[in-house]
Parts: sequence; structure tokens; C-alpha cells
Amino acid sequence: MAEMLELGEKISILAGAAKYDASCASSGSEGRHGKTGEGGFGSTFAAGVCHSWTEDGRCVSLLKVLFSNVCRFDCAYCVNRSSADVKRSSFTVRELVDLTIEFYKRNYIEGLFLSSGIFADPDIVMEKLIEVAKTLRTEAGFGAYIHLKIIPGAGERLIREAGIWADRLSVNIELPTDKSLQHLAPQKSGRVILGAMGDFSALNSQFEEDRRRSRFSPSGKNSAPLFAPAGQSTQLIVGASAEDDRTIVNLSSSLYRKFALRRVYYSAFTPVGRGYGKSDSRLPDIAFPPLIREHRLYQADWLLRFYHFSAGEILDEDSAFLDPHIDPKTAWALKHMDWFPIEINRASYEELLRVPGIGAKSARRIIETRRSRSIDLDGLRRLGAVMKRARYFVSAGGRFLERPEDPARIRRILADQDGAGLQLPLFEF
Ligand code: SF4
Repeated sequence: MAEMLELGEKISILAGAAKYDASCASSGSEGRHGKTGEGGFGSTFAAGVCHSWTEDGRCVSLLKVLFSNVCRFDCAYCVNRSSADVKRSSFTVRELVDLTIEFYKRNYIEGLFLSSGIFADPDIVMEKLIEVAKTLRTEAGFGAYIHLKIIPGAGERLIREAGIWADRLSVNIELPTDKSLQHLAPQKSGRVILGAMGDFSALNSQFEEDRRRSRFSPSGKNSAPLFAPAGQSTQLIVGASAEDDRTIVNLSSSLYRKFALRRVYYSAFTPVGRGYGKSDSRLPDIAFPPLIREHRLYQADWLLRFYHFSAGEILDEDSAFLDPHIDPKTAWALKHMDWFPIEINRASYEELLRVPGIGAKSARRIIETRRSRSIDLDGLRRLGAVMKRARYFVSAGGRFLERPEDPARIRRILADQDGAGLQLPLFEF
């Protein structure tokens, strides 16, 4: 039946089915024309085009599709679950290769993001994804970005091969604990998912070592292949299960440490199950996805990756959730007023990073500028500091804009300054 569908209809089904995977940065976004993407010039959503960012900060458009939305699993939160009443379809390898090349030639896309429902044994599904990537690279000479999903349960041999053809691989952890997986996605297992991440990092180290050795070979040419040069990432759904933010931040921190993940993507739980078959009583009854919570988790993640914060500093034993009204760095600063003011003409790079309103770029500029002259408060603004936040936490040559005295007052002034416009969730655990 699936083969009888027109290609256009397949694209619409399989691109629509892929849009809730957040490991591609623009997933699930509504754009200017709503979730359906219908109507309006420049809308690419219906055709499955999403946007992502490369390691060097470029924004690229990707064709984001599933190979198949047929799935044996019945994950409660997923629109493609086996019990959902949705139209099913699958591409052939040839269709997907031709489609990617055609879209690329027309400048619609700069790469491919490919996942799939588990329509057969994990090795068989993984082989299909690899075949698409390999055919694109070897037959069509496609040199653009390819992101492939690792199908949990696929063997190490297949992860190795996927990494040879793809730029990035990802395996979704989906839920923060095994208990929640058992509850909402009983056919999945944390052990298998973490096992795939472990296989990736072991292979990555092996390939790096081979390349290092090959640099010193007599020919001087590096002939060892690259392995997924854009690394691995994962996605966590926020708000479908009862875990608090501390559990999530701790988990992310340990994934970054153990598996050298490039990114953890957080995806606010969207009640997509409604309208696709029976509603599931295991899921929370929410009116809106918890977008503020997702936003704060991304900020906390930023602190872990770029600001030298530990998970325990972001959320200590007394705090289960990130403050919805204030960003986590400011929340930390308000709890540690004894750290401030920071004298910007003397502080180390690490100390500057702790100041709300001073980012990594401004901290670097401050250190650079200080080599030739001292910086006053006006100069600090010119170096990129956001003074509406930084003003309470710094001094320059002993001068203050505001003395850092009353954290409750500062909190009142700064609360919600960067959350404006986000839809507040009506349901919280
Ligand atoms: S395995 Fe679960 S999350 Fe993945 S497509 Fe199937 S039902 Fe959806």
C-alpha cells in the first residue's frame, strides 16, 4: 500500500512525522505560518526543510524526513507509535537519494537529516539509513552535511559504518530515567541507548587514534577515514514524565562527560497524541508545551558547556527546578552575592564568566583590552556586556553603577526580562 502513494504525499507524511525530533535545531518550530506550514511565501515546513547550525556557527537548511513512519514500538508521546491512527508510508533508498539530490540542486537544502520508525529489526532499519548516506556519497558525490539517527539496538559494526558516511550521528535518550522509559516507552531501554552512545565514543577515539598515527606515516598523507566529524548528539523530552530539572541537568552533565556529546537537545513535551487515536492516560494533560522550562534548560546547558559551571552549582540540593522567571546564571549570582562585585580590571576569565550580562565573547574582549588600558563602566558596555544585568555585579576601578546589596530587589527588576513572549505552561509537576 505504501508504494502506491505519490512521492509528494510520501514527503508530506514522512517530513511531518520527523518534525518533533529536536536534535535538528529548528524541529517542531512553527515558523511564520503555523505548524502546518501552509500558505505564505517562503514557507518550507511542509516540504520538510528545517534549519540547523554547523560547528562554525553557519545556519544550514536540511531536508528532515523519516525513512519510514511504520513503527513496531508504542512510545506514548510519539505520533508514529504503533497504536496511532496515522497514514503510514516508507521511502525506497532510490527515492530518498534522488529527492535529496533534486532538492540540493534546486538550492532548497544544504544537507539531510534522516531518521526512521522501527519498521523491522534495528539492524535492518539502520542498514537502510546507511544505504541512503552511502549511495549519496559514493554514487552521487554528495559532499554536503548528513545527520543520521542511530537506531537503538543496531550493532557496533553498523554504527561504525554510519559514522564513515555521516557528519553527525545521534541516538535519542528521550526520557531522563529508565523508570520513565519503562512507563512511557516500554520497548526501549536506557541500557541499549547508552550502549549506543558508548559505542560511538569508543569508535570516535579509535578513528582519532588511527588518524593521528596516519599523520606520521612515511607518505605524510592522512589516509585514515574521518568518523562523524560533527560528533554525536541526543534529544530529551521535557515534561512528559515527572523528573525535575535537577535530574535532567545532572544527566546532561554526565552525558557530556562520559560520551563527549556535542549537544543535548531539549524538547518541550507536545501533546501530539491527541487526534491520532486513543489518548494516553500515562501522559500529562497539558494545554501548552512547557516552553519556558525548555528555554531555561537550554540556558543551563550553555552554563555547563561554555561557562565552567557544574551541575551542582546550577541546581543544588535545595532546588529541584530552574527558576522560570530568571535565567540560571543570574539565579546563581543572586544566591552568591558574597562573590560580587567583580572588579573587571582584575578578574580572571573564569570570574568574568560568572557575571550576569558578561558572555564568553565579552569576557575575552575584556581580558584583551585590559592588556593595553584599564576599562571603565562605559567601556564595559562598548565591549558587549549587557549592562541591565551586569550593573549589579561589577565595579570598574572601584566605581559602581549599582552596589550589589539587595538580591530580592535585583531579582524583582530582572525577573522575566528574557522570558517575555514565551507561552507559559499551564501544567507543572
Ligand atoms: S521508536 Fe518510539 S519514538 Fe521512535 S518512531 Fe517508534 S514510537 Fe516513535
